[in-house]
This record gives sequence, C-alpha cells and structure tokens, in this order.
Amino acid sequence: MLLRHTDSNVIEREALTVNPAKTCQPIGAMYAALGINKCLPHSHGSQGCCAYHRSTLTRHYKEPIMSGTSSFTEGSSVFGGQSNLLQAVNNMFTIYDPDVIAVHTTCLSETIGDDIPQIVDLAREKGFIPKGKYVFHCNTPSYVGSHVTGFSNMVKAIVDYFAEPVEYKTGKINIIPGWVEPGDMREIKRICYQMGIDTIMFPDTSDVLDAPQTGTYDFYPKGGVTIDDIKKTGSSQKTLALGITSSTAPARALDVKCSVPCEILDLPIGLAATDRFVDSLRKAANVEVPGFIEDERGRVLDFITDTQQYLYGKRVALWGDPDQLVSLTEFLVDLEMKPVYIVTGTPGKKFLTRIEKALNGKVPEAKVKQGANADMFLMHQWIKDEPVDLLIGNTYGKYISRDDDIPLIRHGFPILDRVGHSYFPTVGYAGALRLLEKILDAILSKMDRDSEEESFELVM
Ligand code: SF4
Repeated sequence: MLLRHTDSNVIEREALTVNPAKTCQPIGAMYAALGINKCLPHSHGSQGCCAYHRSTLTRHYKEPIMSGTSSFTEGSSVFGGQSNLLQAVNNMFTIYDPDVIAVHTTCLSETIGDDIPQIVDLAREKGFIPKGKYVFHCNTPSYVGSHVTGFSNMVKAIVDYFAEPVEYKTGKINIIPGWVEPGDMREIKRICYQMGIDTIMFPDTSDVLDAPQTGTYDFYPKGGVTIDDIKKTGSSQKTLALGITSSTAPARALDVKCSVPCEILDLPIGLAATDRFVDSLRKAANVEVPGFIEDERGRVLDFITDTQQYLYGKRVALWGDPDQLVSLTEFLVDLEMKPVYIVTGTPGKKFLTRIEKALNGKVPEAKVKQGANADMFLMHQWIKDEPVDLLIGNTYGKYISRDDDIPLIRHGFPILDRVGHSYFPTVGYAGALRLLEKILDAILSKMDRDSEEESFELVM
C-alpha cells in the first residue's frame, strides 16, 4: 500500500511536497466558469493540462465536462499561443455556439507571458466573436495558489468583465457561494427563497453539474447564472460572500467597481456558521426568519444533544480547502469533538487565525499547517505518531484510512471514488444534519465492527 511505510518521525522539509493537499488553479477556474449559463470554459495551454482538469472534474461530478484547449505544441511553447487561441475562439463559436467563452491560463502560457486581453481584442477585430457573445479571461498559473484561488480568480474576472455600475439599487442580494457542491448552491438558494429574498447567485453550478437526466443530451444544461443577471449584480444592495479564501476578492472587486457593499462570511457549514449566514440574510434583506427555518435549526440542536455521548472527545484529522476547514473545525468543536490535525495546501493570509478562532481554545493539542509542506504525508506522520478516531477529507485520505484502519468521511474536493456527494448539501441546517449523521454512522459502525461478542450491542 502506498503509505504503509510512512515514518512517524517528522523531519522539517523546505523544498519537497509529498501528496499535496490541493489541486491546480485552472480546475477551480473551470468549475467557476461552468456556473455561468451557456459558458464554454477554455484552457489556454497544453492538451495535457486540459485533459487533467476535465477528467478530475468529470470524476468528481460524474458528468461530462466540456472545455476547449489551445493545444500548445512545441512551436506555441516557444513563440506563444496567440494563433492557437484565435483559431480556438473562432472554432468554438462556429461549432458549439456558446454565449460566452471563459479563458483561463496554465503554467505554460503564463510562463510564456501570453497577453490574453490583447488576443481577445484581436479575435474581436477579426470578427471571430459574434455580436452579443463574450470572451473573458482570468490568470491561473498553477505554480502559485490552488484550485480554490483559481476559483476565486475566475469569479473575480466575472465581476471585472461584466458587473455594471449603476446609480440605482434594486434591493436584490448577491450571493457568492464559494467553492461548494451544486447541491450546496441549491440549498443556499432554497434558504434565501424561503426567507422571501430575491438573490443573484454567481457562479451557480446547480442544474449544470447535477442536471436531471431527461433522455436528451444538453451540451449546455439549463442551469448557471446568466450574463444578464451578472451585469445586474452591480445594482444589488448588498453582497454576501461565503468563504474568505474563495469569495473575498470578487466581493471586494464588486464593491470597488459598483459600490455594492459586501459582507464576508464563513461557509455556512455547521450550526453556528449557518446561524450567522441566516442572520446576515435577515439583516441584509430586512426580513423575518420564518418559523420552519427555526424548526430546522431546532432539529439540528436536538440531534446534537442525542449524539453527544458518542462524539464527545473523539479525535479528528481534517484536510482540504481552507474555507471548508474553518467551518468544519468550528462545527466539530461545537460537537465537543477534537479536530487535532488540520492541513491545507492552499495558501492564504487569514487561514491560521481563523482556524485558531474556530478552535476557540478548546483543543490546545491541535496541530495546524498550511502551504507547500502541509501535505498528506505530514498528516499521515502525525497520525502514526498519535492516532485519531476519524478522518474527514477528500478521496486522497483513503490510503491513510486503510493503512491505519480509521473511518473516513469523504468531504470536499476531489471525491473520485464515490457517487452522489454533489447532490446532497452539507451547508445550512439540512447539511448539518447530514454531516452529523455521517459522523455518527462512521464512529458507531467502527465500534460495532471492533466490539467483542459480549459487548456487541443491539441498542446503542
Ligand atoms: S500544474 Fe500547471 S502544468 Fe500541471 S496540470 Fe496544472 S496548469 Fe498544467
């Protein structure tokens, strides 16, 4: 097995990452672009990059991911990819008829220094961009950042290119959901709808990457925010941006460009973070929280009370995206569990202080690491040194789970070996119930499996 010989003796490393706890920037840019209606993402780089990005998204969402590529050859690697991108734009509008093409760069095109806005201007001059159609871009060199910063860059580009500053305000609330599953975006929209709040969510991958099976293949599924709605985000009265790492930059850009004030919130995962989200919605739209949402909250509280005896003091290792980790940590601490090991490969200034706040001084033994050396190898070394009761993270933790016989709850991105995660929310009160049920099931199933005959209980 891959990690069987991992040594528990941690040696400080400076220039080596082993099994990174992140993926590459363009994957996030591609995911964000898919949240625009009739948008065709385009990868400006080699075919290999594009194939990797598409296949990772396809394996996670179990849906075909459409994207163009500039298909760099040796020649374009030396002389630049201008002619490839011009031809690609012409081909894509002619053959696939998208409303918008979202170009992201790769390590190679960034190293060459291709000037994408200049190439897009040239494409327009040559008549390759039909009237009423758009091409926009973001920069995603993958020797910095991660899939989360790539997502953030593309969402900011959406604002930079399309949001229109206007004098009047419509009273709508913009929601930037951060990198969450399509099922999460659907749940956030449901909460807003049931509170009677008119929103524009961008990007919105619900009904794109979890579109219903109808018997006919739609190259462009019905979901995704429209360009018209994105333009109107400049006239909304407020933006709620969920996830500090993924949503701060676009929310601030919209404030600067269109004077739409923003509030940056944690992802609404768990009880307290959802409370803050619902309260911010209530204040922003000046509405009352309906009784049935309070009832949903009450059910989460009841479930927490019922599970406390099983979860108290259980040690948990977490890895993945910073926004997810902050909210998950807070939730686990609220459950009186102990998130003792927390690792993310995604850089970002505020992560460590936010984790410290989420830990709230309740887990003094917690080890937290961020950046290039914060990898799955280090996580495994910590676990070998002092084990945990539960793992929560993406598919890459399954080797640790198998080697050390620790239950794994698959959460975050990517999940390559299971189906269905994209349909079920982990945000909101409904998501908290689901997460709690998964945690409890994992802990009790192991207890059942490991108990001696005389202590194997029917009622637990
Ligand atoms: S890290 Fe760079 S070269 Fe590798 S797949 Fe990502 S964009 Fe391409």
